[in-house]
Amino acid sequence: MNENVLAERINLIGLDYLALSNLMQKWGYQAFRTVQLQKWIHRFCINSFESMTDLSFEFRKFLTERAFIEALPIHTQKYSSDGTVKWLFDVGTNNLIETVFIPENDRGTLCISSQIGCTVNCKFCATGYQGFNRNLNTNEIISQIWLTKYLIEKSHSFKKKDINHKYSHNNFQKITNVVFMGMGEPLLNYKEVLPALRLLVDDNAYALSRRRVTISTSGIVPIMDRLSKDCPVALAVSLHAANDSLRDELVPINKKYPLKCLLEACERYLVYAPRKFLTFEYCMIDSVNDTEKHVKELINLARQISCKINLIPFNSFQNSGFKCSSLSKIYNFVQKLNDAGIVTTVRKTRGIDIDAACGQLVGKVFNRITIRKQETYIN
Ligand code: SAH
Ligand code: SF4
Repeated sequence: MNENVLAERINLIGLDYLALSNLMQKWGYQAFRTVQLQKWIHRFCINSFESMTDLSFEFRKFLTERAFIEALPIHTQKYSSDGTVKWLFDVGTNNLIETVFIPENDRGTLCISSQIGCTVNCKFCATGYQGFNRNLNTNEIISQIWLTKYLIEKSHSFKKKDINHKYSHNNFQKITNVVFMGMGEPLLNYKEVLPALRLLVDDNAYALSRRRVTISTSGIVPIMDRLSKDCPVALAVSLHAANDSLRDELVPINKKYPLKCLLEACERYLVYAPRKFLTFEYCMIDSVNDTEKHVKELINLARQISCKINLIPFNSFQNSGFKCSSLSKIYNFVQKLNDAGIVTTVRKTRGIDIDAACGQLVGKVFNRITIRKQETYIN
């Protein structure tokens, strides 16, 4: 093998069906090879072409010379006492991103990152507070599920270590759901997120139903429209305030896509959504968005659209300047919303002892660039 050939080796981990079959064609192989390869890579988590026993010897040799399958290296793995596991992945240049696995009785949810930091700069979010370094590419996004699936579902050493925690009965050892609720705003990195979504729902790759893959967004309206046509997975919209002046402050992207515009986009999305409702996430912040006035506004808004409300107790981080609403205020919200006929749940806080709860994912963002024009990163 000469050095030129080595230099051209391609990482196949993040190639969706279209990209991989184009590559096969370019290399003079038939399209059905794509399906065989996808199954080995994503279903069985195999990264050695040698082990892909239904491929011809000559094809395996060719692949070894021209390609490889490689996930991001793990920097740290932390276990919470409630069974939650958090990984920090090394994305180079001193930056780290975070991925969290949340096992429950009947499901296992993987929460993944789409950017190193975030440009949206929501006031109550540790990721936003940290600034932004760069978008993740599809390889880096898929790495998070590829490697954690391998560890959770296939590796014996991982299970043995995990079995010691006190909630082991609660430890569902399979990834059944993937949510883009880690670091970053997924719809501001659409070009790289879309192929990852396609792999997640592809029957020959991760084979998750569209209902079990959730994009959480602060409300990037034009990209919500594109997603509805390209790959309409479940959508969670981070609302946090039901009036424009407060939402302008908490979720600054609201100045560009205010509530009326956001609600219209949600209506359009519903036509394609995998369920007949969307989820609105509402972080409960003491004395900021949790008063009687706020619950009335939220009810008025929620009545305009088929939705479910997910209240998230605010998770604190250093220097946030905010506090979580009291339990009584949270239950007041639940009761008033339920009385108004709006299905409302309170998100269980998981992984708090390892800083793995919503809004606590900071990874490590070095050489941040301050960009407030989000469009720069829509591609
Ligand atoms: N950028 C996307 C997805 C990542 S954030 C979005 O904003 O939707 C995932 C969820 O965690 C969002 O609903 C976000 O508003 C919420 N969140 C952020 N900071 C939080 C905090 N400190 N406490 C609780 N939830 C928080
Ligand atoms: Fe970005 Fe979401 Fe955090 Fe807002 S809540 S700063 S959009 S990651």
